[in-house]
Amino acid sequence: MKKVRFPIPPGSRKFQCITCGRKKTCKFFHRDRTRRYGIHPECKECRSQRQSAYSRRTRPARNAYDRAWWASNKEYAREMHRKMRLRRRRRDPVAYLIKRAKAAAKWKGLAFNLRHCDLTIPERCPVLGMKLVWPRKLVRRRPANLPSIDRVNPRRGYVRGNVRVISFRANLLKRNATLDELKALVRYVEEAST
Ligand SMILES: [Zn+2]
Repeated sequence: MKKVRFPIPPGSRKFQCITCGRKKTCKFFHRDRTRRYGIHPECKECRSQRQSAYSRRTRPARNAYDRAWWASNKEYAREMHRKMRLRRRRRDPVAYLIKRAKAAAKWKGLAFNLRHCDLTIPERCPVLGMKLVWPRKLVRRRPANLPSIDRVNPRRGYVRGNVRVISFRANLLKRNATLDELKALVRYVEEAST
């Protein structure tokens, strides 16, 4: 590496930038202990401009390289994304549920305005009383005790005050049934079993 010599002798408190040539005090230069005066010879302004220009110029090549790499390592990518999703879910289950709800709302054409503070995951399903558990692996079939978002009034959508976390099993049973429909169903099942 070529050593850059400063045009200003030591002892002077102002240094000249090798790019713009302006004289500035040392706080306008990055620290660099390997350099002669312990500062980088190019001022912070010039340096950041040069670096961001470099980054902009090389971005298309970088992106192309990344795309090609991920395309030729599809199997690995799939596995890694699965792991990432699991880790994210374990770290912040509420954020995971909200993200899923947002996608579901878009897909179903429903309203959505949930934020992180609008949702709490209870330890047990408030309907069936079973313990809510996140499985350790991502499974194709959702287990009965998986936490899931219930829309109290299904047609109001994923809206603040209209959501609770219940077990997937309870959610599956309720689905989009109305209270009257559920009552009729209970009557029917009760009559059939007596
Ligand atoms: Zn400069």
